[in-house]
Amino acid sequence: MAKETELPDLPTEITPQSADFGRWYIDVVRRAELADYSPVRGCMVIRPYGYAIWELMQQGLDRRIKATGHVNAYFPLFIPESLLMREAEHVEGFAPQVAWVTQGGNEVLEERLVVRPTSETIIGTMYAKWVQSWRDLPILINQWANVVRWEKVTRLFLRTTEFLWQEGHTAHETAEEAEEETRKMLGVYQEFAETEMAMPVMTGQKTDSEKFAGADRTYSIEALMRDGRALQAGTSHNLGQNFAKSYEIKFQARDKSVQYAYTTSWGVTTRLIGALIMTHGDDGGLILPPRLAPYQVVIVPIPRGNWKETVLPKAEEIKAALVARGVRVMLDARESQTPGWKFNEWELRGVPLRMEIGPKDLEKSQVVLARRDTRAKSFVPMDGLDAHVEQELAAIQAALLARAVAFRDEHTTHTDSYEEFKSILDGRPGFVVSPWCGNASCETDIKNETQATIRNIPFDSPAAVSKACIKCNAPATVHAWFAKAY
Ligand SMILES: [Zn+2]
Repeated sequence: MAKETELPDLPTEITPQSADFGRWYIDVVRRAELADYSPVRGCMVIRPYGYAIWELMQQGLDRRIKATGHVNAYFPLFIPESLLMREAEHVEGFAPQVAWVTQGGNEVLEERLVVRPTSETIIGTMYAKWVQSWRDLPILINQWANVVRWEKVTRLFLRTTEFLWQEGHTAHETAEEAEEETRKMLGVYQEFAETEMAMPVMTGQKTDSEKFAGADRTYSIEALMRDGRALQAGTSHNLGQNFAKSYEIKFQARDKSVQYAYTTSWGVTTRLIGALIMTHGDDGGLILPPRLAPYQVVIVPIPRGNWKETVLPKAEEIKAALVARGVRVMLDARESQTPGWKFNEWELRGVPLRMEIGPKDLEKSQVVLARRDTRAKSFVPMDGLDAHVEQELAAIQAALLARAVAFRDEHTTHTDSYEEFKSILDGRPGFVVSPWCGNASCETDIKNETQATIRNIPFDSPAAVSKACIKCNAPATVHAWFAKAY
């Protein structure tokens, strides 16, 4: 008999952020029914409400990925061991996290298979077959898939052994095109994060010690969570000719010479849902930006008098009119729960706008609207209600971004002093921007002493040539963005 895995009960209360942010996060994920623990160690169940958010993210990203010329395809879940082993640096980076398949049915496999931790190796192998001439380039393919990375410590959405993502893989004729692609997709992620998630991000280049295993350069978008820790929300890698050489992606160039292609890869994952929660949520629970809210409006009818003959039909009419305009609406007419319970429940689940309608409102031809982000309540006439709701949703989306930008800016400090650097990271956390020498061992020293890592080096980083490194006093080469990170 297999050992049965015990699962913890759902929390009834949400821990306040100030008491324990990590506990708050898990409470919200589970109470809002976004995800739950599963009997498989390190693997989560994404529940329908959480999956609906992922589907909205997918739609927003997929639209952008296609608008920039990419197409979707699907590659196998398994990768033969010999394929993975061809790119030495890549293997070294991923080997500790790889899950192996050694047996199929009763037969021990002649060659072990890995469950993909990422797909450069198998996709590169196929590109080698498909690319013969410069005329076959570029290849611009994206895949929506699951991947597995064996994690020791896991946290719902943020770090799980299996997770969902998209991985773009492209091959190009020149180094310049590959670099342009890598930067372009980073820009797509940035725009998505800000427009859809209302989450400002810092874009920049990872240091060598933090870059993707096998890449020439890795760029990232980095967001700041409400506990002052940074979260890497997406990466885009310029793989140079490294994978092309390992996997023989060669082509006849315009001058008839044989050249290796230049490849890129880029991805974002279900981790974005964790980022969304920790960017906007409060002690009441989740706060969803309207663009990613499964329900943008919840209508709660107030059950008084003959409400089923009067209030309910009106609520249904309002819902139909909003749905016709593309608004996602939940009409919660359950008789098993009180209005007060429903208010609390939908607040916890982050619905941007709540509409209350009772017999009195009907008489006055009005409804009550309550915003989740500000908790502001207002009476709104039925006349012109649809347009008003759309304006409110747009206003909430904008207000959430503005609030997150203000929070990020308030929690970003520039300093040239290591004493100040340490005290900031001890106390009020956030981003710390400081001159750095570019030396990996210095980076490690800083990490060991403060737990802060270099999140990235922004493209618009002010020149640091005249400054000394924050830690070792050697001449600085860049201004780096440091933070404690997830
Ligand atoms: Zn240094």
